[in-house]
Amino acid sequence: MRTNPRNKEGVVNIQIYKPLYDKIAKLADEQNITIKEYVNKFLEGHVITIELMRQRFSQIMQVGATDTAVLMQDKGKNVIASVTMQKNGDMHCSACKKDFCEHIFASLFSPSWITILQNMGKEDTLQSS
Ligand SMILES: [Zn+2]
Repeated sequence: MRTNPRNKEGVVNIQIYKPLYDKIAKLADEQNITIKEYVNKFLEGHVITIELMRQRFSQIMQVGATDTAVLMQDKGKNVIASVTMQKNGDMHCSACKKDFCEHIFASLFSPSWITILQNMGKEDTLQSS
């Protein structure tokens, strides 16, 4: 990792794609903070979340995803749970047959939900047109 030797803060430069940078700049502006503060605050929260999830749910980890489900392996229970969301927003875990459990909670931090929710949005658009 290379740091700028002129920078006493030990700041590392990274490259962010311009369209994303523009969105981040707008969000930072809305919070009246600098882009650097915004990015560091966001990334710190992300890293802390991952660390806490690994401590709290050490037996549960995502092993995959489909167009409609996040697949969570539970080494303690020796199962793979398929976590899905119904059109009304209710969640379901195939392993527990419940609408809320540790598998569902752990899955909520998966970025795979972004794709699944985008797919659900496209289905709604197709059905309503
Ligand atoms: Zn479950």
